[in-house]
Amino acid sequence: MARVYNFSAGPSMLPEEVLKKAADEMLDYQGSGQSVMEMSHRSKVFDEIIKGAEALVRELMQVPDNYKVLFLQGGASTQFAMVPLNLMNGSGKADFVITGQWANKAYKEAARYGEANIVASSKDKTFSYIPDLDPSTFTKDADYFHICMNNTIYGTKWNTLPETGDVPLVADISSCLMSEPIDVSKFGLLYAGAQKNLAPAGVTLVIIREDLIGKARDITPTMLNYQTHSESDSLYNTPPCYTIYIAKLVMEWIKSLGGLTAMKERNEKKAKMLYDFLDESKLFKGTVVKKDRSLMNVPFVTGNEELDAKFVKEAAAAGFVNLKGHRTVGGMRASIYNAMPIEGVEKLVAFMRKFEAENA
Ligand SMILES: *Cc1c(COP(=O)(O)O)cnc(C)c1O
Repeated sequence: MARVYNFSAGPSMLPEEVLKKAADEMLDYQGSGQSVMEMSHRSKVFDEIIKGAEALVRELMQVPDNYKVLFLQGGASTQFAMVPLNLMNGSGKADFVITGQWANKAYKEAARYGEANIVASSKDKTFSYIPDLDPSTFTKDADYFHICMNNTIYGTKWNTLPETGDVPLVADISSCLMSEPIDVSKFGLLYAGAQKNLAPAGVTLVIIREDLIGKARDITPTMLNYQTHSESDSLYNTPPCYTIYIAKLVMEWIKSLGGLTAMKERNEKKAKMLYDFLDESKLFKGTVVKKDRSLMNVPFVTGNEELDAKFVKEAAAAGFVNLKGHRTVGGMRASIYNAMPIEGVEKLVAFMRKFEAENA
């Protein structure tokens, strides 16, 4: 069996231990005589899976008791509409910081429902930094303030959160979910598509402060109302059962390695290896302002498109796949989520060193 090192931005690698366990349990989940794919979502055995998954989210992320943990569908992209439908119902205003394409999509979708204000943007430099904020420009009576915590395409991350006072801070954490500890109490709502750091595609994790539930606009579809899912413990309709099961296995794996503090150490070690090399290389260079660098997505270029293409091709042949950068940035991007082993990054750096020597 030859497994590649997959640097895809998403869906991305899953821990090998998790895949093996899922394979072992494929035909007969713990004596139930069935696969998790086949069982009723109302069965006792599945109830233990979904409750177990919720308990692990709460434990790993230290979710305070006044927050609900929801397993939804529709990806992070559905949250771009669900958040305004549910929250933008007081003043009808919300603030946005445009740090990339996903942040912009959240803004554009909200603008269909109310007054969406852009308080800052880093578009002028292809989103290669996190803009400084001037709190005096924030909308005082906004229903929420939205950021995209880790910008998957551009490789930036918020290291200091905006001070929004009583205005609930809402963050898209799709590409940094469980990559390091996060203080949930600083947020009104967190959401993440699972397919980067938690599970295969199909489940969206939402962590929402209870007082923000029950305020949705009348036009809100039942399925897009947080209250619907909160009241039914994410079992209003059929949830993505198998994906939730894999998420549970992934969280057990994270826990076995020491939780989010250990994940952070591991992720910092991987990112440092790559960034240190980029900083010393004469061929490759990182595209992001140093202080705003992401731990998860590392874009880099050679400055020569042909050489970039050659690198991506040769890397793939050597077993390092999906290194092509997003079309808006060009060059390369290595996504090094939780499941990317340390030796995957070590070997990538060695390969880059060799490529540099051969192409100097
Ligand atoms: C991938 C991604 C999305 C889109 O997620 P879907 O689940 O495909 O809708 C949104 N935001 C961020 C930050 C992402 O990385």
